[in-house]
Amino acid sequence: MQSQTRQDYGDDPLAVRDSEKYQEEYIDGFVDKWDELIDWDGRASAEGHFFIEKLRERGAKKVLDVATGTGFHSVQLIEAGFEVTSADGSPVMLAKAFENARKRGHILRTIHADWRWLNQSVHDLYDAVICLGNSFTHLHEEVDRRKALAEFYATLKHDGVLILDQRNYDALLDHEVQPTHNYYYCGDSVRAEPEHVDDSLARFKYSFQDGAVYHLNMFPLRKTYVQRLMKEVGFQRVDTYGDFQETYRETEPDFFIHLAEKA
Ligand code: SAM
Repeated sequence: MQSQTRQDYGDDPLAVRDSEKYQEEYIDGFVDKWDELIDWDGRASAEGHFFIEKLRERGAKKVLDVATGTGFHSVQLIEAGFEVTSADGSPVMLAKAFENARKRGHILRTIHADWRWLNQSVHDLYDAVICLGNSFTHLHEEVDRRKALAEFYATLKHDGVLILDQRNYDALLDHEVQPTHNYYYCGDSVRAEPEHVDDSLARFKYSFQDGAVYHLNMFPLRKTYVQRLMKEVGFQRVDTYGDFQETYRETEPDFFIHLAEKA
């Protein structure tokens, strides 16, 4: 694959609202900086054992990480004793995740797959599917969101759970708060800020200390919309947490985490 050095949004970056775009957004330079952006140690202490506890409470053993990215959750879950398979639609991300895991003494079981056609490449059933780090936001069309959720549903065992998180876009869309920080992008050396927000686009700018700047064009998911889509594809129950708490903090949470149960 040819290595790209610059992101390219063309003449009108705000017009780029396409579910395929993630493939080009995560170019080598950005992926290399991603770990700086998410800061593994800071993230581990912010999240605590939330996901591990939720998975253990349900007796989950086999987990499919569908948005592996650079491998943070895959590695954390392997180290906690889960049997993990790591999927992602970006080969650049998967290569980085493999390298990160190897440095920590693990060989990742990777699958290159786009969520919309997940079951063409994933031929097993899982106790849990995780889609974390505000990844689902990369799908710009509703038909793609429905398709992806249906594919996640299909790869779960009859009593499986989908754990999917998202940035609190309601707060951004309603101009209630401008989140100044969040639990994921906790590296000190990067600023993540919304550059443009409307009903179908949240364009974020990521500025690094060395002057490098990258963008992501994302779809601003409303919390109740995601809950509704999950129910419509067949999930029986959806519980939503704010910043890893069952009862939201007094201030608006930065992130929502949905736990969607199949049975
Ligand atoms: N979960 C990781 C984390 O928390 O650090 C990565 C998050 S990153 C924001 C989003 C990931 O989702 C990227 O690795 C990207 O390649 C992947 N992704 C986006 N759209 C996808 C799709 N349609 N199919 C498969 N992977 C996709």
